[in-house]
Amino acid sequence: MNKPYGHTPLDRAQPAAIEAFQLQRIQALLQYLNSHSPFYQRLFAAHGTDLTEINSIESFRKLPLTGKEDIQAHNWDFLCVPRSAIAEYTATSGTLGQPVTIALTAADLERLAYNEYCSLQLMELNSEDSLQLMLTLDKQFMAGMAYYKGAQQLGTAVIRTGPGLPQMQLEVMQRLQPSVLVAVPSFLVKLKEYIASTQTELHTLSPRKVLAIGEAVRDKDLNPSVLAQRIQEGWNLELFGTYAATEMQTAFTECTAHQGGHLQPELLYVELLDENGHPVTPGTAGEVTITTLGVEGMPLLRYQTGDLCEGYYETCACGRTTMRLGPVVGRKKQMIKYKGTSLYPPMVAEVLHRMAFISEYVIEITQDEYAQDMLVLHLHSADPDAVDHNSLKQQLQSALRVLPQIEWCSLEQMMQMQFPNGSRKPVRFRDRRA
Ligand SMILES: [Zn+2]
Repeated sequence: MNKPYGHTPLDRAQPAAIEAFQLQRIQALLQYLNSHSPFYQRLFAAHGTDLTEINSIESFRKLPLTGKEDIQAHNWDFLCVPRSAIAEYTATSGTLGQPVTIALTAADLERLAYNEYCSLQLMELNSEDSLQLMLTLDKQFMAGMAYYKGAQQLGTAVIRTGPGLPQMQLEVMQRLQPSVLVAVPSFLVKLKEYIASTQTELHTLSPRKVLAIGEAVRDKDLNPSVLAQRIQEGWNLELFGTYAATEMQTAFTECTAHQGGHLQPELLYVELLDENGHPVTPGTAGEVTITTLGVEGMPLLRYQTGDLCEGYYETCACGRTTMRLGPVVGRKKQMIKYKGTSLYPPMVAEVLHRMAFISEYVIEITQDEYAQDMLVLHLHSADPDAVDHNSLKQQLQSALRVLPQIEWCSLEQMMQMQFPNGSRKPVRFRDRRA
């Protein structure tokens, strides 16, 4: 078994020891970027950065920030190795504009595997487990491949069923008896409905744990989200939330205490920043800003992900001392200023998930003739007779303090909206602002 990062027990080290380790890795990264990265060479020159002065975390925090627009505009200037050293080209999903290519070397793939090997250990999995992987392994998608490699490293068997197809998923589940599912939570809701339609009793099924990707299974107070409640009602599954972005090549996964996803300090340095680039005070959500540690192909320095999360710094009930991230409460670019209120799509989605009669939705922001944000909810119900318009309006009103425009549509219209241009996952948020 390949253990590229050794097994330094950093996740239970004292915060000062973690910081000292990270500072050392950051200093190595700065030297590496300065000699290998065309983008960062230019950035350091433009800002007159003297790397010899970066001898503390405080001085590091004064270095310039990098944004998604920088990678979109100069994607190949981030590459630090010759093209011949690239082992795999992955890409972001492009839900927020142009997709970004992240190229990985063989060493980066090992790092990625180690990252999920650690994530699966946070879930307390081992070689006795088997894992049904309900994610795509192709279409340049990083996560599916990362879980595959992490499970292989841990010795956990993988069943690659891919996304969708509830009938096939259930058939495989009954035949091969996996103990763990890796899935998108909203798909599990659909799968559960399908299982109910076959008269299969949920307690007869083998899975006990779920690695839930792409959607939050906790609310901002770390209690089960409505989506999680809908999955767990009558189904004895332990849901583990996880947060990651392709660019960071690292995940924050919950442990069995379910109090936020743990940082992997060997792989990533994380900051939570306000709109002026200053650290937020604990208890406030800030923009997740990451510095990759140990990445060879396309390392990133103080990269702003656009995701807003809260950080938790006290020692976890599991005994780990690493900081944890709560669920994504919003995306910076997706902030909606609507009738004097600031909203984020997850707040709207949380209300819609509560309404069992809503089968699918798209949250859309447009602008009116005065350039004010307009919020439109496109909704589809598989059972129009069950739709409770009053309850929907009341819940939206009380959660958001404003009432968005509501448009009901057919399943076909919904599919066209959710899968534009061969998108590999449903697009449930559309930003049509200028
Ligand atoms: Zn923990």
